[in-house]
Amino acid sequence: MNTKIIVDFEATCCDKNSIPRHQMEIIEIGACATDNSHNIISEFQAFIRPVRHTVLTEFCTSLTAISQLQVNTAKEFPNICRQFKKWIWLHENPIFCSWGAYDKNQLLQDCEYHKMQFPFGGNYTNLKTEYADVIKSKRSFGLGQALRNSGISFEGTPHRGIDDAKNIARLLPIIYKYPA
Ligand code: AMP
Ligand code: MG
Ligand code: MG
Repeated sequence: MNTKIIVDFEATCCDKNSIPRHQMEIIEIGACATDNSHNIISEFQAFIRPVRHTVLTEFCTSLTAISQLQVNTAKEFPNICRQFKKWIWLHENPIFCSWGAYDKNQLLQDCEYHKMQFPFGGNYTNLKTEYADVIKSKRSFGLGQALRNSGISFEGTPHRGIDDAKNIARLLPIIYKYPA
């Protein structure tokens, strides 16, 4: 059996170009593992202390609802990445899934910067494109749009990694229509 691991990262960011894309760093990992019936069987959540842009912009704290204190008191990426990898591999054939390719690219970037091994194996599923395929749409949907389009209201705080991941999981029955 494959286990879909739905991942959503929050990262340092700004609205004034002060943080270039290649310097963004993950500040929250939110992830949940789902079974064949698309139920969440386990969750992983951790904050990460960034090492390049260490002071979160106002834009970032207001977008993500993540506070400076939460990242100041968190461990750096290598430590959390090791914990994340251990949790991932508690599951049978874990498959990295995210809403859009951003999360995969961001994880590759942070692993490269910190010289850490990529915590997943080779399989990756982009649920945003799977969703567009299943509803036969040429355009892609943001997470909020996809939920609204499916008559599901967002639970929790949008742009918090763990809440985003859990809400993505709620779209699995629509994307896959029946148990995997
Ligand atoms: P999300 O999963 O949609 O919350 O976005 C993941 C990360 O992408 C956020 O933590 C930000 O670093 C970045 N991001 C998302 N939306 C924006 C935006 N409108 N402007 C700048 N960065 C953003
Ligand atoms: Mg996201
Ligand atoms: Mg998010």
